[in-house]
Amino acid sequence: MEHPENDQAYKGLTVNSGVSSQPTVNPYRQVKKRRQLGVSDYVEGILKGDVSILGRAVTLVESTADAHQAIAQEVIEKCLPYSGNSRRIGITGVPGAGKSTSIDVFGLHVLRQGHKLAVLAIDPSSERTHGSILGDKTRMEKLSVQKDAFIRPSPSAGSLGGVARKTRETIVLCEAAGYDRIFVETVGVGQSETAVHSMVDFFLLIQLAGTGDELQGIKRGIMEMADGIAINKCDGDNVDRAKLAAAQFRNALHLFPPTPSKWRPEVVTYSGYYELDIDKVWDMIDRYFEYVDKTGYFERKRQEQEKYWMIETIDEQLRSKFYNTPEVAALLEQKEIRVLNNEQSSFTAAKDVLDFYFSRLREIDA
Ligand code: GDP
Repeated sequence: MEHPENDQAYKGLTVNSGVSSQPTVNPYRQVKKRRQLGVSDYVEGILKGDVSILGRAVTLVESTADAHQAIAQEVIEKCLPYSGNSRRIGITGVPGAGKSTSIDVFGLHVLRQGHKLAVLAIDPSSERTHGSILGDKTRMEKLSVQKDAFIRPSPSAGSLGGVARKTRETIVLCEAAGYDRIFVETVGVGQSETAVHSMVDFFLLIQLAGTGDELQGIKRGIMEMADGIAINKCDGDNVDRAKLAAAQFRNALHLFPPTPSKWRPEVVTYSGYYELDIDKVWDMIDRYFEYVDKTGYFERKRQEQEKYWMIETIDEQLRSKFYNTPEVAALLEQKEIRVLNNEQSSFTAAKDVLDFYFSRLREIDA
């Protein structure tokens, strides 16, 4: 049939018959599908230091899907014998203290010493903000282009306990992949420090000078956890104030009880932005590691941490199994109403729910 546009009215315009519609994708293009990896592929890749496989394994660790978790746990188990051979350093400080600027230059410093560095983060707020600002590659411009640096933002799903466990498991994978320096970044304002403290060997607190209140919202508990305090932005006309703050921190630390390692936390000043006295910060950290190696505290602390994480994992699994049981959730809802209406006390209501859960477990067992 003649096409209507072939009518004379269209003058120079002719339309030939042809294919009615072109394929929207190039049929000759090879679509590369990512191969599904098995546990041994992951383990082999990680042990070879394959960054892309390491990244995919970390994604599995972070996934909440049961099938992913099952593989992740097996991979972690197989990587465990190859892990542990690193220095794990926690870095904290309030927003604006200069964490990312500092991690960028600290990171280059350790790379120059011939190490491989993984930068991880714990940011429990990231669930709310959908994506973490900590451990973000764009904040560490110099480091992020280095081939021996692996940067991973905070896992974003779940409770602080869950987020922390994932970061800890990621440490195992990174170490097995040959990363012998691990930084774990966190914001110095809340509970996440305790979690970071429980997975690192050295805890560095980044502080600022000259803002009046020298503690800057840093809780005393965080200062007590610190093995070293580094006062940043010791540059330009801030040098005197930074040195004064250092003296004040030294005095304050004297009043604290001795640390479990008996190491006396040190205070140094530096400038992350102008890259001044970075080696002073690093000498302090090296001194600490020499000290704890000699006293045996390094090993002791790692063993304590292993125990802590076993209990934490049990806690977390129990909780999640309990609360994710639909019958428990339904009963809890009823009990909540009764408690709010003063028909039952919170204690007997809790006991009823627990009794129900345990009797149900016995039924399943039988
Ligand atoms: P974070 O929120 O702790 O990660 O802090 P940033 O690293 O993002 O730094 C906050 C601000 O302080 C940025 O504007 C940095 O440029 C600035 N800053 C960081 N380190 C220094 C430093 O050593 N000296 C000076 N003068 N500014 C710095």
